[in-house]
Amino acid sequence: MWRQALRRVVRGVLDLFYPPLCLLCGADLDHHESLVCSACLARLPLIGPSSCPRCSRPLHSPNGHAHLCGPCRLTARPVLDRVVACGEFRAGLRQLIHLFKYRRCQCLAPLLGNLLAQRCLTTQAYCDLDWLAPIPLHWMRQRWRGFNQARELARYVSLASGIPLLPRSALRRVRRTTPQVRLTAAGRAANVAGAFALSSPHLVRGTRVALVDDVLTTGATSSECARVLLRAGASAVRLFVLAR
Ligand SMILES: [Zn+2]
Ligand SMILES: [Zn+2]
Repeated sequence: MWRQALRRVVRGVLDLFYPPLCLLCGADLDHHESLVCSACLARLPLIGPSSCPRCSRPLHSPNGHAHLCGPCRLTARPVLDRVVACGEFRAGLRQLIHLFKYRRCQCLAPLLGNLLAQRCLTTQAYCDLDWLAPIPLHWMRQRWRGFNQARELARYVSLASGIPLLPRSALRRVRRTTPQVRLTAAGRAANVAGAFALSSPHLVRGTRVALVDDVLTTGATSSECARVLLRAGASAVRLFVLAR
């Protein structure tokens, strides 16, 4: 109890000399704001109702919300039955994800995790779901970063939805891979082939699983993870991501 009180006093004194600033625009934060100011939050490029119902790709036609996007219309049986994305990987959302992932700002986990949880709630993406499975990092990369950003996001989605996290040891990255960001689309698929293993297939047999990740680019990593789960008998795999 006294520790919490002491922490509040120290925080109050520090705020007096070093007022907290918005991570995106550098403006002073009001007492009700945390990490990012309200104006910057309102400017995040979040995906609106006019988006593909299967993959969340923004559609730019006024009546677009009822239709699948072009690439989805050409894919009869996708590996991921649905992709739910919060926003587009640009502007402030891109900056926040970079701070979270590459500058190791773990303090952004509640803000970003709750953003994703809220998006999943409004798009009714939790229906019939049994597990949340964060895309695993290789242990060496996780040691470097100090945390797995996908697991941090999934923790907040789990708290908001009540859907349990697949145990950490169940789905593992068994091979170290080159960071996908440095590769072409074809190179990405080859890079992650055989990179994941499921140690407890009985856990996912007959269940619906949502993979959780920070960014979707070509989908090579999430598709490879989904294939491992489907081979073990998962009945459906979807993907929740912050940005695409
Ligand atoms: Zn700001
Ligand atoms: Zn689509």
